[in-house]
Amino acid sequence: MSRVWNFSAGPAVLPEEVLKEAAEEMLDYRGTGMSVMEMSHRSKAFETIINEAEADLRDLMGIPDNYKVLFLQGGAWTQFSAIPMNLMKPEGGKADYLVTGGWSKNAAKEATKYGDAKVVASTEDTNFTTLPDLDKVEFRPDADYVYICDNETVYGVKYNKYPETGDVPLVADVSSCFLSEPIDVSKFGVIYGGVQKNIGPAGCAIVIIREDLITEDINPYTPKIMSYAVQAEKDSMFNTPPCYTIYICGKVFKWLKKQGGLQGIYERNVAKAKILYDYLDSTDFYQAPVAKEARSLMNVPFVTGDKDLDAKFVAAAKEAGIENIKGHRSVGGMRASIYNAMPVEGVEALVEFMKKFEAENK
Ligand SMILES: *Cc1c(COP(=O)(O)O)cnc(C)c1O
Repeated sequence: MSRVWNFSAGPAVLPEEVLKEAAEEMLDYRGTGMSVMEMSHRSKAFETIINEAEADLRDLMGIPDNYKVLFLQGGAWTQFSAIPMNLMKPEGGKADYLVTGGWSKNAAKEATKYGDAKVVASTEDTNFTTLPDLDKVEFRPDADYVYICDNETVYGVKYNKYPETGDVPLVADVSSCFLSEPIDVSKFGVIYGGVQKNIGPAGCAIVIIREDLITEDINPYTPKIMSYAVQAEKDSMFNTPPCYTIYICGKVFKWLKKQGGLQGIYERNVAKAKILYDYLDSTDFYQAPVAKEARSLMNVPFVTGDKDLDAKFVAAAKEAGIENIKGHRSVGGMRASIYNAMPVEGVEALVEFMKKFEAENK
C-alpha cells in the first residue's frame, strides 16, 4: 500500500483516520451485519448517523437554532438553480451577484433563467485575481438576496470580509472553504456547498438556511426534490439522501472536533498555506497571480510563466508522488489544493520538490 500527496481540487484528500475507520466498518457497521451502503435510510442505525452528523456540524459551526441544515443530492450545481427557484419571488424576483471567478459566474448565469439576476460586481477584468471593492458596489435594496462565492476554487480567491447587505439575505457558496475557518453563520441567509472539496466524498450538498427564508411561495416549476420547504419538512429525507456520503461527512466532523474545531484547523491551515506562499514570494521562478489580500488558504495557483515548463513540472511532480497539481483547464499552470485533510508534511514535500525543480530548470 502506498499513498501519494494528493493536491486534487475535488474530490479531494480525506483524513486517513476517517478512511481507515470506514474500512473497518465496511462489512459490518457496528453490529448491524451490513455496510452503511446497504442499509435503509429509514433504519435506526442511519437515523443515528444523520442526526449525529447534523449535531456535530451545528456544534462545529455554531449554527443558531433558527437555521435548518439540509443534506441534499445533486452537488453545488443543483443549488445554482435551487437558490433562485426558492429565494427569488415567483413574480418579479431579483438577486444581486458578485462574480469573482468561474463558479459565481456560472451561478449568476444559471439564476437568469428564474428572474432578474444582476451582476453587480465582477473582477473578470483582472482575470479573477482580485476582490471587488465592496464599498463601491451598488446593491439593490429590494433584491431577494445577494450572492457570493466565498472561495473561488479555480482562481484561488477568497473573501477577507463579507458585503454588508442590511436586510437583504447574503447567500454564500462555500464549497471549497467549508469548515476551513470559523464563520459567523448569523451573517448569512444561506451558506451552502458541495461536500467533495473539504468534507467528504462527492454526492451531497449541505445547505444551511435561515428558517424565515423557507417558504412554499416559490417558483411554481421548482422540482419537488429541490424545494427547501419540502426538504426541511422531511429533514432531508423526502427521498433517499446520499447515505454513505453523509456517513463519511459525519466522521470528518468528529475528526475536525479532535483537531480543535474550526479555530484549530484554521490555525493549521494558515501555517500550512504560509509555507507555500512564503516560498512563492521568495522566488522569481514561480509566480502566484492572485493579489495578496485575496489569497485562498485552500487553493493556491502558481505558474512558471512558460507553458512547456509547467507541463514538465506536472509530469516530474507525479514521478515524485505529487498528484493532481495541474491547474484548472481554464487557467493552466499549477494549483495546489491544500484542504483541511492535507497534512503539513504534504505541503513541505511540495515545496521541497518545487525548490529542486527550480534548481534544475533555472
Ligand atoms: C466544485 C465547485 C462547485 C461545483 O460543485 P459540483 O458539486 O460539482 O456541482 C461549485 N462551487 C464551488 C466553489 C466549487 O468549488
